Amino acid sequence: MVNQWLLSALGQLLPSSCPLCDVPLPIGEHLCKSCHNALPLLDRPCPQCGLVLPVEAPSEQCCGSCQTDPPDFDRLIATSQYAPPMSQLIMGFKFHRQLQYARLFAQLLANAVQQSGHGLPEIILPVPLHASRQRQRGYNQALEIARLLSRWLDIPVAGNVLQRIRATAAQSDLDAAARIENVRGAFKLRQALPYRHVALLDDVVTTGNTVNEITRVLKKSGVQRVDVWCIARVVEAN
Ligand SMILES: [Zn+2]
Ligand SMILES: [Zn+2]
Repeated sequence: MVNQWLLSALGQLLPSSCPLCDVPLPIGEHLCKSCHNALPLLDRPCPQCGLVLPVEAPSEQCCGSCQTDPPDFDRLIATSQYAPPMSQLIMGFKFHRQLQYARLFAQLLANAVQQSGHGLPEIILPVPLHASRQRQRGYNQALEIARLLSRWLDIPVAGNVLQRIRATAAQSDLDAAARIENVRGAFKLRQALPYRHVALLDDVVTTGNTVNEITRVLKKSGVQRVDVWCIARVVEAN
């Protein structure tokens, strides 16, 4: 723990290099300008589900699908599409202990949240891993990002109130119908929440079924507005 803290404190003070092209970075920066400009941004995302709007649609309106059959969550903010090079960084962060990328992801997300102008939530809730997965990985990637955002945006984080009570299969391995079934009843709240507006933080949102399922649990307990914050949104659901 002390080592983790020390590394994190040093990470703010020491110069580092760009994780994608290796050029030296000024202190406090986590990606060089040209790699930043090459990130696969979401051009004109639907304000509710985060998927790209058709060219002819006005940018302040929700997409057709959200107008006819909206998800339970209220807004989704993603820093980019789930595509290279962002997907490579996320894979390194999730599966190869590249925890130093948390600063980059948190910085991108903090900017996106502030630019959205939608109002800040009272609390940040990271999407939990099942206990067995967390033991195996040694960390919850969403919580690592949430902790930094909590400091920078001055919003508390609650890493322990949501619980994944069932180990679920990876959503990416399933078809659309199986994805809904896979996460149904997989989450519960450990305690009632005294909040009206929360942000649910996940690293990657694929179809939105996981965050939608958690939103239902939160809204049943009295939360009125759920914003989803994620690093990347999969744009072409298969
Ligand atoms: Zn670079
Ligand atoms: Zn939409």
